[in-house]
Amino acid sequence: MAGANMTVDNKFPGKDITQDDIDGKIPLVAKKSADHRTKFECAGIEFGGALVPVMAGPNTVESEELIVKTAKGIKAAGAHFLRGGAFKPLTFPYRSPKFFEPREDGLKWLQVAKQETGLPIVTEVMEISKIDIVAQNCDMLQIGTRNMQNYPLLTEVGKTGMPVMLKRGYGASLRDWLMAAEYIALEHDRLGQQQKILLCERGIVANHTHRATSRFLLDLQVIPAAQEITHLPIMSDPSHATFWQPWVKSMMLASIAAGADGLMLEVHPDPVNAAVDPLQCSSLEQFDDIMKACRPVAQAVGRTVDA
Ligand code: PEP
Ligand code: MN
Repeated sequence: MAGANMTVDNKFPGKDITQDDIDGKIPLVAKKSADHRTKFECAGIEFGGALVPVMAGPNTVESEELIVKTAKGIKAAGAHFLRGGAFKPLTFPYRSPKFFEPREDGLKWLQVAKQETGLPIVTEVMEISKIDIVAQNCDMLQIGTRNMQNYPLLTEVGKTGMPVMLKRGYGASLRDWLMAAEYIALEHDRLGQQQKILLCERGIVANHTHRATSRFLLDLQVIPAAQEITHLPIMSDPSHATFWQPWVKSMMLASIAAGADGLMLEVHPDPVNAAVDPLQCSSLEQFDDIMKACRPVAQAVGRTVDA
């Protein structure tokens, strides 16, 4: 019986998750008992345990110099993973010196940053034909919000057996999200391995977000909601959710207090001049301040941000 501490009495499929869903549609990602939690290791960092791993870095891997400088700065402040987009889901098709995708070059620069700092890499994969090259150059594959329901991509990414971070589609219910995770879980199961899937809440569409520039609303309550149903760890990305740097610190702290099993945020050494999304990214100094604030909050809920 999955999710033993929840009441599943909704007989009608919809946004709510029914017992039929748990039994027949998400048997692999559903909890088998109230205290069932998946723990897995990726590049020596444990997910789903007491540690709340922190992933930080720029939106776009703009240059080798930028990514190495960022990696050194976030490592000094206590980050566990370096993030950064090489293959980017820009919302419009035109590329320019400002809006560019570093693609394979970005992967190379991420590797340089890893060699210099030892930080493992998480980066996005958007298309099946690039899975091999991205997988060879990262420790965890990221599926972005726009691809959460790209089922052929999920299946092929699952077949690599690598740890996958599945961001929530910005219009997706928890039910949609867990069913998408099941596609990856099925492949991990077929490989006979443990499920290495990390859910990541990154903001959902809402009518009111309190600022015109804020496109999304951080759904904090999806953290305990997910934990009622699934054994998979769930993390929070307040940068993409708030789209407004001054709100990132409080939402980081709130995410830890709500039980998040990991955090992602965008950090850039020179936010004003960030190629993409300058309003949401934190400077290295702001990141250091955020990490310092995270420590006592994590401790208060029996967690830690120090590996
Ligand atoms: C990102 O992490 O840079 C990103 C594009 O995230 P999302 O898919 O949540 O928009
Ligand atoms: Mn981004």
